[in-house]
Amino acid sequence: MSMVETAATSASPVRYSLVLPIFNEESVLPVLLKRIDALLDALDGPAEAIFVDDGSRDSSAIFLRYKAQTDLRYRFIGLSRNFGHQVAITAGMEAARGEAVVVMDADLQDPPEVVLQMVEAWKQGFEIVYARRIARHGEGRFKRWTADAFYRLLGRFANVEIPRNVGDFRLVDRRALEAFRAMPEQDRFVRGMFAWLGFRQTAVEFERAPRAAGETKYTLRRMTRLALNALVGFSDAPLKLVVATGLAVSALAGLYGLYVVGKWLSGAELVSGWTSTILIVSLLGGGNMLMTGIIGLYVGRIHAEVKRRPLYVVAERAGFPEAATREGAQATRRAG
Ligand code: UDP
Ligand code: MG
Repeated sequence: MSMVETAATSASPVRYSLVLPIFNEESVLPVLLKRIDALLDALDGPAEAIFVDDGSRDSSAIFLRYKAQTDLRYRFIGLSRNFGHQVAITAGMEAARGEAVVVMDADLQDPPEVVLQMVEAWKQGFEIVYARRIARHGEGRFKRWTADAFYRLLGRFANVEIPRNVGDFRLVDRRALEAFRAMPEQDRFVRGMFAWLGFRQTAVEFERAPRAAGETKYTLRRMTRLALNALVGFSDAPLKLVVATGLAVSALAGLYGLYVVGKWLSGAELVSGWTSTILIVSLLGGGNMLMTGIIGLYVGRIHAEVKRRPLYVVAERAGFPEAATREGAQATRRAG
Protein backbone atom coordinates (compact mmCIF):
# COMPACT_ATOMS: atom_id res chain seq x y z
CA MET A 1 0.00 0.00 0.00
CA SER A 2 2.77 2.38 0.91
CA MET A 3 4.47 1.70 -2.42
CA VAL A 4 1.40 2.85 -4.24
CA GLU A 5 1.11 5.86 -1.96
CA THR A 6 4.69 6.92 -2.53
CA ALA A 7 4.37 6.51 -6.24
CA ALA A 8 1.23 8.61 -6.26
CA THR A 9 2.77 11.43 -4.27
CA SER A 10 6.01 11.59 -6.17
CA ALA A 11 4.07 11.58 -9.43
CA SER A 12 1.98 14.45 -8.12
CA PRO A 13 3.08 17.69 -9.75
CA VAL A 14 2.38 19.70 -6.63
CA ARG A 15 5.09 20.48 -4.12
CA TYR A 16 3.36 23.04 -1.94
CA SER A 17 -0.29 23.23 -0.93
CA LEU A 18 -1.81 26.20 0.85
CA VAL A 19 -5.03 25.56 2.75
CA LEU A 20 -7.27 28.49 3.63
CA PRO A 21 -10.57 28.14 5.51
CA ILE A 22 -13.13 30.74 4.50
CA PHE A 23 -16.18 31.84 6.42
CA ASN A 24 -17.85 35.01 5.17
CA GLU A 25 -14.61 36.62 4.04
CA GLU A 26 -15.76 38.46 0.92
CA SER A 27 -14.29 41.75 2.11
CA VAL A 28 -10.72 40.38 2.29
CA LEU A 29 -10.78 38.26 -0.85
CA PRO A 30 -9.45 40.85 -3.34
CA VAL A 31 -6.38 41.68 -1.27
CA LEU A 32 -6.00 38.06 -0.14
CA LEU A 33 -5.89 36.70 -3.68
CA LYS A 34 -3.25 39.26 -4.60
CA ARG A 35 -1.03 38.20 -1.71
CA ILE A 36 -1.59 34.51 -2.37
CA ASP A 37 -0.73 34.98 -6.05
CA ALA A 38 2.52 36.59 -5.01
CA LEU A 39 3.25 33.76 -2.58
CA LEU A 40 2.53 31.07 -5.17
CA ASP A 41 4.99 32.82 -7.50
CA ALA A 42 7.62 33.13 -4.78
CA LEU A 43 7.56 29.43 -3.83
CA ASP A 44 10.31 27.37 -5.45
CA GLY A 45 8.09 24.66 -6.86
CA PRO A 46 4.65 23.94 -8.26
CA ALA A 47 2.07 25.12 -5.75
CA GLU A 48 -1.66 25.03 -5.27
CA ALA A 49 -4.00 27.09 -3.10
CA ILE A 50 -7.02 25.29 -1.71
CA PHE A 51 -9.89 27.40 -0.45
CA VAL A 52 -12.36 25.63 1.80
CA ASP A 53 -15.62 27.50 2.00
CA ASP A 54 -17.11 26.71 5.39
CA GLY A 55 -20.72 27.47 4.55
CA SER A 56 -20.29 31.19 3.91
CA ARG A 57 -23.49 33.16 3.56
CA ASP A 58 -21.91 35.97 1.56
CA SER A 59 -20.43 35.97 -1.94
CA SER A 60 -17.13 34.30 -0.94
CA ALA A 61 -18.07 30.96 -2.51
CA ILE A 62 -19.08 32.45 -5.87
CA PHE A 63 -15.87 34.41 -6.04
CA LEU A 64 -13.59 31.52 -5.10
CA ARG A 65 -15.34 28.93 -7.24
CA TYR A 66 -14.83 31.20 -10.23
CA LYS A 67 -11.19 31.67 -9.31
CA ALA A 68 -10.68 27.91 -9.16
CA GLN A 69 -12.34 27.45 -12.54
CA THR A 70 -10.18 30.05 -14.25
CA ASP A 71 -6.80 29.70 -12.55
CA LEU A 72 -5.08 26.31 -12.60
CA ARG A 73 -3.32 26.85 -9.30
CA TYR A 74 -6.49 27.43 -7.33
CA ARG A 75 -8.87 24.82 -5.93
CA PHE A 76 -12.21 25.25 -4.29
CA ILE A 77 -14.01 23.02 -1.80
CA GLY A 78 -17.46 24.05 -0.67
CA LEU A 79 -18.72 22.44 2.53
CA SER A 80 -22.46 21.90 2.73
CA ARG A 81 -22.83 24.09 5.82
CA ASN A 82 -20.74 25.78 8.47
CA PHE A 83 -18.77 23.02 10.18
CA GLY A 84 -16.37 25.29 11.99
CA HIS A 85 -12.78 26.35 11.46
CA GLN A 86 -11.13 23.13 12.69
CA VAL A 87 -13.17 20.89 10.43
CA ALA A 88 -12.68 23.22 7.45
CA ILE A 89 -8.93 23.00 7.94
CA THR A 90 -9.16 19.22 8.07
CA ALA A 91 -11.12 19.09 4.82
CA GLY A 92 -8.48 21.22 3.12
CA MET A 93 -5.58 19.14 4.39
CA GLU A 94 -7.23 15.94 3.24
CA ALA A 95 -7.54 17.34 -0.26
CA ALA A 96 -4.01 18.73 -0.39
CA ARG A 97 -1.54 16.94 -2.67
CA GLY A 98 1.63 18.84 -1.90
CA GLU A 99 4.78 17.48 -0.29
CA ALA A 100 4.44 20.32 2.20
CA VAL A 101 1.05 21.63 3.23
CA VAL A 102 0.54 25.03 4.83
CA VAL A 103 -2.60 26.03 6.71
CA MET A 104 -3.26 29.72 7.13
CA ASP A 105 -6.08 32.09 8.00
CA ALA A 106 -7.77 33.92 5.19
CA ASP A 107 -7.85 37.31 6.86
CA LEU A 108 -4.10 37.94 6.35
CA GLN A 109 -3.48 37.87 10.08
CA ASP A 110 -1.05 35.14 9.13
CA PRO A 111 1.26 36.99 6.71
CA PRO A 112 1.85 34.88 3.57
CA GLU A 113 5.53 35.87 3.51
CA VAL A 114 6.14 33.86 6.68
CA VAL A 115 5.44 30.74 4.63
CA LEU A 116 8.80 31.20 2.87
CA GLN A 117 10.56 31.02 6.26
CA MET A 118 8.58 27.90 7.09
CA VAL A 119 9.67 26.31 3.83
CA GLU A 120 13.31 27.00 4.75
CA ALA A 121 12.84 25.13 8.04
CA TRP A 122 11.08 22.29 6.21
CA LYS A 123 14.03 21.93 3.87
CA GLN A 124 16.27 21.55 6.88
CA GLY A 125 14.27 18.45 7.72
CA PHE A 126 11.54 19.58 10.10
CA GLU A 127 8.25 17.80 9.50
CA ILE A 128 6.08 20.28 11.35
CA VAL A 129 6.87 23.97 11.31
CA TYR A 130 4.48 26.10 13.29
CA ALA A 131 4.32 29.85 13.49
CA ARG A 132 4.54 31.43 16.90
CA ARG A 133 3.01 34.85 17.41
CA ILE A 134 5.40 37.12 19.26
CA ALA A 135 2.95 40.01 19.06
CA ARG A 136 -0.71 40.38 18.30
CA HIS A 137 -1.71 43.54 16.55
CA GLY A 138 -5.22 44.81 16.23
CA GLU A 139 -6.71 42.38 18.74
CA GLY A 140 -8.51 43.66 21.79
CA ARG A 141 -7.37 43.29 25.36
CA PHE A 142 -10.11 40.71 26.00
CA LYS A 143 -9.03 38.44 23.15
CA ARG A 144 -5.39 38.62 24.25
CA TRP A 145 -6.26 37.97 27.86
CA THR A 146 -8.52 35.01 27.14
CA ALA A 147 -6.01 33.56 24.69
CA ASP A 148 -3.24 33.88 27.26
CA ALA A 149 -5.31 32.28 30.01
CA PHE A 150 -6.26 29.49 27.64
CA TYR A 151 -2.68 28.62 26.72
CA ARG A 152 -1.67 28.75 30.37
CA LEU A 153 -4.45 26.37 31.41
CA LEU A 154 -3.70 24.05 28.54
CA GLY A 155 0.02 24.12 29.30
CA ARG A 156 -0.72 23.04 32.87
CA PHE A 157 -3.24 20.30 32.24
CA ALA A 158 -2.80 18.90 28.74
CA ASN A 159 -1.33 15.41 28.39
CA VAL A 160 0.85 16.52 25.48
CA GLU A 161 2.88 19.66 25.29
CA ILE A 162 0.93 22.12 23.18
CA PRO A 163 3.14 25.04 22.17
CA ARG A 164 2.09 28.43 23.48
CA ASN A 165 0.87 31.26 21.29
CA VAL A 166 0.64 28.97 18.33
CA GLY A 167 -2.51 28.88 16.29
CA ASP A 168 -3.26 26.85 13.22
CA PHE A 169 -0.75 28.63 10.98
CA ARG A 170 1.59 25.76 10.24
CA LEU A 171 3.52 23.83 7.62
CA VAL A 172 3.20 20.07 7.64
CA ASP A 173 5.26 17.53 5.76
CA ARG A 174 3.49 14.80 3.81
CA ARG A 175 4.39 12.11 6.35
CA ALA A 176 3.03 14.04 9.32
CA LEU A 177 -0.03 14.82 7.25
CA GLU A 178 -0.71 11.15 6.52
CA ALA A 179 -0.49 10.44 10.25
CA PHE A 180 -2.86 13.32 10.95
CA ARG A 181 -5.30 11.87 8.47
CA ALA A 182 -5.30 8.64 10.46
CA MET A 183 -6.77 10.50 13.44
CA PRO A 184 -10.51 10.20 12.93
CA GLU A 185 -11.72 11.99 16.06
CA GLN A 186 -14.90 14.00 15.78
CA ASP A 187 -14.12 16.87 18.12
CA ARG A 188 -11.07 18.29 16.53
CA PHE A 189 -8.52 20.54 18.16
CA VAL A 190 -6.02 20.59 15.35
CA ARG A 191 -3.10 22.21 17.17
CA GLY A 192 -3.37 19.64 19.94
CA MET A 193 -3.48 16.84 17.41
CA PHE A 194 -0.26 18.01 15.79
CA ALA A 195 1.39 18.35 19.18
CA TRP A 196 0.31 14.78 19.92
CA LEU A 197 1.77 13.56 16.62
CA GLY A 198 5.34 14.41 17.53
CA PHE A 199 7.86 14.33 14.63
CA ARG A 200 10.55 16.94 14.37
CA GLN A 201 8.83 20.21 15.10
CA THR A 202 10.12 23.73 15.13
CA ALA A 203 8.77 27.27 15.20
CA VAL A 204 9.25 30.39 13.18
CA GLU A 205 8.22 33.62 14.85
CA PHE A 206 6.02 36.30 13.44
CA GLU A 207 3.97 39.29 14.43
CA ARG A 208 0.29 38.72 14.04
CA ALA A 209 -1.13 41.41 11.81
CA PRO A 210 -4.52 42.95 12.33
CA ARG A 211 -7.32 41.60 10.19
CA ALA A 212 -7.03 42.96 6.63
CA ALA A 213 -10.81 43.47 6.47
CA GLY A 214 -14.02 42.17 7.96
CA GLU A 215 -14.32 41.05 11.55
CA THR A 216 -13.49 38.01 13.60
CA LYS A 217 -15.61 34.91 13.08
CA TYR A 218 -14.58 33.57 16.45
CA THR A 219 -17.34 34.67 18.77
CA LEU A 220 -17.05 34.10 22.50
CA ARG A 221 -19.18 31.01 22.08
CA ARG A 222 -16.88 29.54 19.45
CA MET A 223 -13.83 30.32 21.55
CA THR A 224 -15.39 28.59 24.53
CA ARG A 225 -16.21 25.54 22.47
CA LEU A 226 -12.66 25.37 21.17
CA ALA A 227 -11.27 25.68 24.68
CA LEU A 228 -13.56 22.93 25.98
CA ASN A 229 -12.66 20.66 23.08
CA ALA A 230 -9.02 21.21 23.84
CA LEU A 231 -9.35 20.49 27.54
CA VAL A 232 -11.59 17.45 27.22
CA GLY A 233 -9.71 16.04 24.24
CA PHE A 234 -6.19 16.52 25.57
CA SER A 235 -6.47 16.37 29.33
CA ASP A 236 -8.21 14.27 31.97
CA ALA A 237 -7.85 16.94 34.60
CA PRO A 238 -11.64 17.61 34.80
CA LEU A 239 -12.30 13.93 35.56
CA LYS A 240 -9.66 13.75 38.23
CA LEU A 241 -11.20 16.86 39.72
CA VAL A 242 -14.56 15.06 40.12
CA VAL A 243 -12.97 12.08 41.83
CA ALA A 244 -10.95 14.33 44.14
CA THR A 245 -14.06 16.35 45.01
CA GLY A 246 -16.01 13.15 45.69
CA LEU A 247 -13.33 11.88 48.02
CA ALA A 248 -13.11 15.21 49.83
CA VAL A 249 -16.89 15.49 50.25
CA SER A 250 -17.14 11.91 51.53
CA ALA A 251 -14.40 12.54 54.06
CA LEU A 252 -16.00 15.74 55.28
CA ALA A 253 -19.41 14.04 55.50
CA GLY A 254 -17.89 11.24 57.56
CA LEU A 255 -16.28 13.69 59.97
CA TYR A 256 -19.43 15.71 60.26
CA GLY A 257 -21.42 12.52 60.85
CA LEU A 258 -19.10 11.58 63.73
CA TYR A 259 -19.56 15.04 65.19
CA VAL A 260 -23.35 14.85 64.95
CA VAL A 261 -23.48 11.38 66.48
CA GLY A 262 -21.18 12.60 69.24
CA LYS A 263 -23.57 15.45 69.97
CA TRP A 264 -26.50 13.07 70.05
CA LEU A 265 -24.71 10.70 72.38
CA SER A 266 -23.77 13.54 74.74
CA GLY A 267 -27.47 14.20 75.05
CA ALA A 268 -27.39 17.77 73.67
CA GLU A 269 -30.75 19.47 72.92
CA LEU A 270 -31.42 18.55 69.30
CA VAL A 271 -34.51 18.82 67.09
CA SER A 272 -35.76 15.28 66.96
CA GLY A 273 -34.84 13.48 63.71
CA TRP A 274 -32.11 16.03 62.90
CA THR A 275 -29.19 13.73 63.63
CA SER A 276 -30.33 10.88 61.45
CA THR A 277 -31.35 13.23 58.61
CA ILE A 278 -28.01 15.04 58.52
CA LEU A 279 -26.15 11.77 58.77
CA ILE A 280 -27.99 10.18 55.87
CA VAL A 281 -27.93 13.28 53.64
CA SER A 282 -24.23 13.97 54.06
CA LEU A 283 -23.17 10.35 53.65
CA LEU A 284 -25.33 9.91 50.57
CA GLY A 285 -24.06 13.18 49.12
CA GLY A 286 -20.45 12.18 49.50
CA GLY A 287 -21.10 8.66 48.23
CA ASN A 288 -22.90 10.02 45.20
CA MET A 289 -20.02 12.30 44.28
CA LEU A 290 -17.51 9.53 44.63
CA MET A 291 -19.59 7.12 42.54
CA THR A 292 -20.03 9.75 39.86
CA GLY A 293 -16.30 10.22 39.81
CA ILE A 294 -15.65 6.50 39.50
CA ILE A 295 -18.15 6.17 36.69
CA GLY A 296 -16.45 9.20 35.18
CA LEU A 297 -13.16 7.31 35.12
CA TYR A 298 -14.74 4.55 33.09
CA VAL A 299 -16.44 7.05 30.82
CA GLY A 300 -13.02 8.62 30.37
CA ARG A 301 -11.66 5.27 29.17
CA ILE A 302 -14.55 4.93 26.78
CA HIS A 303 -13.90 8.45 25.59
CA ALA A 304 -10.28 7.62 24.92
CA GLU A 305 -11.30 4.48 23.04
CA VAL A 306 -13.93 6.07 20.86
CA LYS A 307 -11.50 8.74 19.74
CA ARG A 308 -9.90 5.92 17.79
CA ARG A 309 -6.55 7.56 17.70
CA PRO A 310 -3.77 5.35 16.45
CA LEU A 311 -1.71 3.90 19.28
CA TYR A 312 1.51 5.34 17.92
CA VAL A 313 2.89 6.98 14.83
CA VAL A 314 5.97 5.72 13.03
CA ALA A 315 8.17 8.51 11.74
CA GLU A 316 10.48 6.38 9.64
CA ARG A 317 11.58 2.85 8.99
CA ALA A 318 14.81 1.36 7.83
CA GLY A 319 15.75 -2.03 6.51
CA PHE A 320 12.25 -2.91 5.40
CA PRO A 321 11.83 -3.84 1.74
CA GLU A 322 9.71 -0.77 0.95
CA ALA A 323 12.04 1.66 2.73
CA ALA A 324 14.13 2.25 -0.39
CA THR A 325 11.31 3.94 -2.25
CA ARG A 326 10.46 6.10 0.76
CA GLU A 327 14.03 7.28 1.14
CA GLY A 328 14.09 7.87 -2.59
CA ALA A 329 11.10 10.17 -2.32
CA GLN A 330 12.75 11.91 0.60
CA ALA A 331 15.92 12.50 -1.37
CA THR A 332 14.07 13.98 -4.34
CA ARG A 333 12.29 16.32 -2.01
CA ARG A 334 15.44 17.58 -0.36
CA ALA A 335 17.38 17.83 -3.61
CA GLY A 336 15.20 20.44 -5.23
N1 UDP B 1 -13.38 30.31 9.86
C1 UDP B 1 -14.02 29.20 9.30
N2 UDP B 1 -15.16 28.72 9.88
C2 UDP B 1 -15.67 29.29 11.01
C3 UDP B 1 -14.98 30.38 11.61
C4 UDP B 1 -13.84 30.86 11.01
O1 UDP B 1 -13.59 28.67 8.28
O2 UDP B 1 -16.70 28.80 11.47
C5 UDP B 1 -12.14 30.82 9.22
C6 UDP B 1 -12.11 32.30 8.94
O3 UDP B 1 -12.69 32.61 7.68
C7 UDP B 1 -10.63 32.62 8.97
C8 UDP B 1 -10.10 31.63 10.00
O4 UDP B 1 -11.08 30.61 10.13
O5 UDP B 1 -10.01 32.32 7.73
C9 UDP B 1 -9.84 32.28 11.34
O6 UDP B 1 -11.00 32.95 11.80
P1 UDP B 1 -10.94 34.41 12.43
O7 UDP B 1 -9.94 35.25 11.73
O8 UDP B 1 -12.32 34.96 12.46
O9 UDP B 1 -10.47 34.08 13.92
P2 UDP B 1 -9.47 34.96 14.83
O10 UDP B 1 -8.28 35.29 13.99
O11 UDP B 1 -10.25 36.17 15.21
O12 UDP B 1 -9.16 34.07 15.98
MG1 MG C 1 -8.34 36.21 12.23
